[in-house]
Amino acid sequence: MRLVVLGAPGAGKGTQASQLAEYYNCPHVSTGETFRKAIQNQTELGKEADRHISQGRLVPDDITIELVKQRIEEPDCQIGFILDGYPRTVPQAAGLDEILSKKGLSLDAALHLELSEKEIFRRLGNRRVCTKCGANYHLDSLPPKHPGKCDRCGSPLVQRDDDQIDTIKKRLIVYHQQTRPVLDYYEKQSKLLVVNGEGSISSVYNAIINNLETRSLRANDCH
Ligand code: AMP
Repeated sequence: MRLVVLGAPGAGKGTQASQLAEYYNCPHVSTGETFRKAIQNQTELGKEADRHISQGRLVPDDITIELVKQRIEEPDCQIGFILDGYPRTVPQAAGLDEILSKKGLSLDAALHLELSEKEIFRRLGNRRVCTKCGANYHLDSLPPKHPGKCDRCGSPLVQRDDDQIDTIKKRLIVYHQQTRPVLDYYEKQSKLLVVNGEGSISSVYNAIINNLETRSLRANDCH
């Protein structure tokens, strides 16, 4: 499966992408997570990414496209991948198509998780993330077993800097200006799959799997 997961901040991309990666037995590639690790490790990439992320802006396309190119050329991605948070601009989408078409491959689908703005603010305000392994929690719908501690590794949970209210507002403006056109890009390729992201984690997951399986059955019928 070669899938990209699109959606506004807080749409549940990371949560769903990680479960889809398990289901399809392929790597979960998150550009946001890769940037956060680079920031934590204070690499050159991290320093550059931090300048943009902390202001609610996107990391420039040339850096992001190169990062994804290198990642999906690694051996584990040859069987497929679930790309989470990429592409966020039309040039990134075109860049991905170019990388794949050079290998004679193409995307299976682009999944868009739809969410109302009210729900986005509610979710991001309550999101907590592990400082060590990056696991996501939500104080209402996915609380940690012990307050403030990661279930997986026991490290402290924090609110992401870019989940502060003013930064959320900026990220939403950026999303509408730069990322929404990506939906049209995939619609024109008949690759766009829209799923309502407002239900519980499991109901959204089931809806995604149903949609993807129906789609792949239809694709097989055409061959
Ligand atoms: P995420 O964890 O996907 O919400 O990403 C966190 C932040 O990382 C975003 O708000 C962007 O600033 C940056 N980022 C992640 N993916 C991309 C991308 N594909 N293009 C540009 N910036 C990105």
